[in-house]
Amino acid sequence: MPSSPDTNLSAVLQSVKNLRLEEMPIPQPGPHQVQIAIQKVGICGSDVHFWQRGYIGDYVVKAPLVLGHETSGIISAVGEGVTHLKKGDRVAIEPGVPCRRCDYNKEGRYNLCSHVTFCATPPWHGTLARYYVHDADFCYKLPDHVSLEEGALCEPLSVAVHACRRAGIVIGYNVLVCGAGPIGLVNMLSARAMGASKVVITDVSEERLKFAKELGADHTINVTGKDPKAVAALVAECLGRQPDCAIECSGAETSQALAIYSTKSGGCVVLVGMGTLENKLPIMDALCREVDIRGSFRYLNCYPTALEMVASGRVNVKPLITHRYALEQALEAFETARIGAGIKVMIDCSRQQ
Ligand code: NAD
Ligand code: ZN
Repeated sequence: MPSSPDTNLSAVLQSVKNLRLEEMPIPQPGPHQVQIAIQKVGICGSDVHFWQRGYIGDYVVKAPLVLGHETSGIISAVGEGVTHLKKGDRVAIEPGVPCRRCDYNKEGRYNLCSHVTFCATPPWHGTLARYYVHDADFCYKLPDHVSLEEGALCEPLSVAVHACRRAGIVIGYNVLVCGAGPIGLVNMLSARAMGASKVVITDVSEERLKFAKELGADHTINVTGKDPKAVAALVAECLGRQPDCAIECSGAETSQALAIYSTKSGGCVVLVGMGTLENKLPIMDALCREVDIRGSFRYLNCYPTALEMVASGRVNVKPLITHRYALEQALEAFETARIGAGIKVMIDCSRQQ
């Protein structure tokens, strides 16, 4: 155990491109909350985006912000009324807590709640710190054999579980995943776990496609410089028929067009990748062939499923982690993520003595 007084070292974004390690107050849990000694935090593209640009859409960093939202930790204190967790429990943290009161919550679509507080989305602090306080019911106890790193990866995996549910994936489906970044890869793994027979994945990076192949993609297509219609024909050729659904995870306009052209008539395109605000898409093709286009935003009741997928061994997320750093090396870790080296950069926030 550390002998010096306990502190709350945190990775704080002070302003654009100005990320610093600072001591913050140690937060105390209120009723129905838990204090968590943060262990593992994966860096997400959005953390890098806030750091480099200072905003994502309408979310603007106006005050110092602790980054990080792909998190696991160990319960260090429980607030009044918490019964399902105790000190020492290892948990995965679902970062978005909805207001629980608006119509979207009542309708069972809490991911659409506009009053959600989401880790590392301004003005809400993230988890790249020694300690963090969160609502207890958004913390999920990890089975003993599930690692803290796997717990942190339940966040991107939950994005995939939601997208695959939105796509309606069932056993025997053929699936096109566009983009082989971390989100495309977890969608591939999740689609497979939900019963997909074959998965084709695209990217513009040969390295990422190689990684996807090793992780179990049946076919990979490098779309660089290719016309979406021509690639759609290639996708159908690989699979022997058009895919039942496409999950777009790059946000690129040409890739969204590919997703529509590729999908079989009556099938479904799920948009996960976030690109520019407005894109030109082959809407007539979607209309005439009744290809449904669906948005997919974060997750909804997906953490328990993501955790089950990992705990049962149906999904192995471990190979996604390509780089590891300590919290003290946060800047180096962010630089690694910024240049797109590897797949997932993981930061260890535990106190090393
Ligand atoms: P990433 O940038 O690591 O991966 C994107 C991949 O797409 C890269 O490998 C890139 O080479 C590839 N790409 C670029 N152009 C392409 C094209 N034309 N065709 C195919 N691939 C192409 O990002 P990520 O972390 O994997 O996230 C992917 C996207 O998902 C991002 O836009 C992110 O903002 C979004 N996202 C959405 C949600 C949601 O709730 N909807 C949640 C998390 C992330
Ligand atoms: Zn609400």
